[in-house]
Amino acid sequence: MTSSRKTNLLGISRPALRDLFVEWGEKPFHAEQVMKWIHQRGVLEFAAMTDISKALRTRLEERCTLSLPDFSQHHASDDGSHKWVLEVASGSKVEMVFIPEAGRGTLCVSSQAGCSLDCSFCATGKQGFDSNLSAAEIVAQLWWANRQLAGGDGRSERAVSNVVMMGMGEPLLNFDNVMEAVQIMMDDCAYGLSKRKVTISTSGVVPAIRNMRGRTDASLAVSLHAPNDALRSQIMPINRKYPIAELLDAVRSYMSSLSDKRLPVIEYTLIAGINDHRQHARDLAELLANFPCKINLIPFNPFALSDYKRPSGSAVSNFRQILLQAGYTVTVRTTRADDIGAACGQLVGEVADQTRRSARHQKRAAGAASGVLATDKLRASADRL
Ligand code: SAH
Ligand code: SF4
Repeated sequence: MTSSRKTNLLGISRPALRDLFVEWGEKPFHAEQVMKWIHQRGVLEFAAMTDISKALRTRLEERCTLSLPDFSQHHASDDGSHKWVLEVASGSKVEMVFIPEAGRGTLCVSSQAGCSLDCSFCATGKQGFDSNLSAAEIVAQLWWANRQLAGGDGRSERAVSNVVMMGMGEPLLNFDNVMEAVQIMMDDCAYGLSKRKVTISTSGVVPAIRNMRGRTDASLAVSLHAPNDALRSQIMPINRKYPIAELLDAVRSYMSSLSDKRLPVIEYTLIAGINDHRQHARDLAELLANFPCKINLIPFNPFALSDYKRPSGSAVSNFRQILLQAGYTVTVRTTRADDIGAACGQLVGEVADQTRRSARHQKRAAGAASGVLATDKLRASADRL
């Protein structure tokens, strides 16, 4: 495909586009016009960008492309949630999920196909790493959700108000592409999302958190999941490389680089009998005593390849109570938000798993049957929402 050698403008930030135009001897302000056509009006044909010169449109057509991944599968749940599976350049399938809530619409975006970090409670981790998504493939998830959810011409109010990088993969191991994509999401000539409403979730890639300083001012969520290094290393192998003290120090340093007062979110997935004892809650309260943050408790979402169990309602409530008494702001994912976790950490795994099987099937058979299987699996998982 010749287009694959062209620059996909869906994933090019405004400064980079301005540079490109200057390099071409064009006025840099055309970058603003082109960005608005693509991201605000949803136009993917250069020929339709009528407020720029014919000469520039022709040049764009020759050297650039505006291509979307294939969003072949979609499921709309009764509660208003949507899931899409997209096929990325590597041939892998990843997923994004839209969850409407009162006053906001959150899109859970994927940054990698698979993940190399192998956290013991995560289905994506069980897949291993497949590939990084390009900046265009990351931005395309937001472009697509807004277009699909707005209905009609897509000019009505945009549906997605918040983006969380909590889909498949570790965003900070795909650093440059994620930074470029986040910049586009927050650009007023594109989606104009506020820095408080774009959240990067990380398992704790310390050098990359340090590199975020000055590169972005997006919000940060940290997957902690344990109050001490021994336990965290057991469930999150990355902790052996970057232990808790280093992680918290890097997060503190990033937060202090921001121009406004914002707190990081500490995510804590509660797994029955592993990290959900009262003593773990007391230890967590002590660990974070001098670390300003909000805490989000996520009851574990069970999946086929894991023996872990979801904690009882009373275990979750006891854990929360101890943190509240210690003065923390604590949220617990509700049943529905709980399933965002399932969607992000778990359902994607099932789809990807199915995809691999599909790939094998397709070599032998027609491929249609495996497509049906993947869709069925998706529907079954979506029904849990
Ligand atoms: N790699 C990043 C972002 C993707 S995972 C990270 O680890 O932060 C998004 C969130 O889902 C993380 O907090 C992760 O710990 C959580 N998660 C993964 N699998 C889960 C499961 N089975 N149940 C509950 N939460 C899960
Ligand atoms: Fe990767 Fe995050 Fe899953 Fe860990 S929890 S394996 S870092 S996607």
